[in-house]
Amino acid sequence: MIVVKFGGTSMGSGERIASVARLVESRAAETPLVVVSAMAGITDCLLALSSAAQKSDRAAADKALSQFAEKHRQAVEALGLSGEDAEACSDEITRETVRLADLSTGVSLLGELSLRTTDAIAASGELLSSLLMTAALRKIGVDAVRIDPREWMATDAQYGCAIPDESRVSSLVAMRVMPEVKAGKVVVTGGFVGAAPDGSFTTLGRGGSDYSAALLGGGLHDCGARVDAIEIWTDVDGILTADPRIVTGARLVPEVSYTEAAELAFFGAKVLHPATIKPAVSREILVKVKNTFRPQAPGTSIARTAEGEGVRALAMRKGVAAVFITSPRMLLAYGFAARVFSVFEKLKVSVDVIATSEVSISVTFDEKSPIDDIVSELAQFSDVETMTGLAVVSVVGQNLRSTSGIASRIFTALDAINVVLISQGASETNLTFVVEAENGAEALRRLHKEFFG
Ligand code: ADP
Ligand code: ASP
Ligand code: MG
Repeated sequence: MIVVKFGGTSMGSGERIASVARLVESRAAETPLVVVSAMAGITDCLLALSSAAQKSDRAAADKALSQFAEKHRQAVEALGLSGEDAEACSDEITRETVRLADLSTGVSLLGELSLRTTDAIAASGELLSSLLMTAALRKIGVDAVRIDPREWMATDAQYGCAIPDESRVSSLVAMRVMPEVKAGKVVVTGGFVGAAPDGSFTTLGRGGSDYSAALLGGGLHDCGARVDAIEIWTDVDGILTADPRIVTGARLVPEVSYTEAAELAFFGAKVLHPATIKPAVSREILVKVKNTFRPQAPGTSIARTAEGEGVRALAMRKGVAAVFITSPRMLLAYGFAARVFSVFEKLKVSVDVIATSEVSISVTFDEKSPIDDIVSELAQFSDVETMTGLAVVSVVGQNLRSTSGIASRIFTALDAINVVLISQGASETNLTFVVEAENGAEALRRLHKEFFG
């Protein structure tokens, strides 16, 4: 069995959906299960609809709604569907558009947009893309069936960034998905979308379809199926040595370990959602990243171990803030660090980079976190300074701690770029530092030149 996930660009038009369908058909012997993202630009369009509704901007809301309906209608046309499938697609596009119009009217009237409602709006993209993918497969004679992601993706109620309940996901996969596979169907489902315990829509956060695919693979494995690979099909050849939008000449990395891939994703390599690797690790399932537009290219294989040593790839993530916490009382005091981190725990803020000295602790976290609350809690027992507009840069590879000279190569290459914070030696797999966001891209380019020529 294989799980194949296709991202937004791969699903960008009716023609592209048709070509993805042929790719799936060519893998029929491997029993593929298909996870799809919304068509390119549709999630952004739905989020624009939510915020237009919140601002009661009728013109912008109508524009987003017609863009949504039009893009899917054009795809149906380009797919050349006929009969029952054409009718089903057309009816559902109308139904979804009406549902979105109702929701946005409600938001406008109330002048209030909750994350719960945002998810109910954002989910539409994957509901329709999975319908179109199913129709495209059926058109070429593949016996495909669509399963609503809410039927198997059980999550908590943290709307906007819901946490899947892995054991419930596995039992729902056994109950709802496996019987279809056993009946010889090719299952198609939407990524990104889930259901809270009360059945309402949730989403896994931007880019979450990769995570959906990995959880589906994990669930199938838990049912006793042999899952040969979870394949993430996207618009680049695989994981590259750096973000190709920033570094020209970024090269394909043929193999990376689970740990390296997880670090790269966490520190900003958008090609994988940060949680994607998690379900694969404990079950030792191979994860592959492949290019939909160049299926013959070998792609990247992600497994427990990977050939090679040293620096493998670089990542950078902007939108980072830091607090510099100092306390004279910290001198020789135990429990100070615990007190600092209890603030982050209480406010449910996850931290990125930590550096400490005898009298101070510096911590970075997402700029969108409640900085004022963090500062006022910390200020009760320490002096706090903050910085925003930062970027974390991560150098990822194997055995970095024991490879001599890496740090000196990094800091020589950075030259005059000011480094705000450094975390070295916390892991064998990465060396992370923080710079001002405006220097992030240049830092990445200089490091790429140093390590990859
Ligand atoms: P999809 O819609 O298929 O999920 P994404 O846009 O989420 O695709 O992810 C693919 C994009 O990630 C690439 O087009 C590339 O611009 C970006 N990217 C960032 N860092 C990397 C990296 N290290 N390797 C490959 N792609 C990267
Ligand atoms: N459609 C969602 C997004 O654009 C999820 C995904 O593509 O993975 O973020
Ligand atoms: Mg993605």
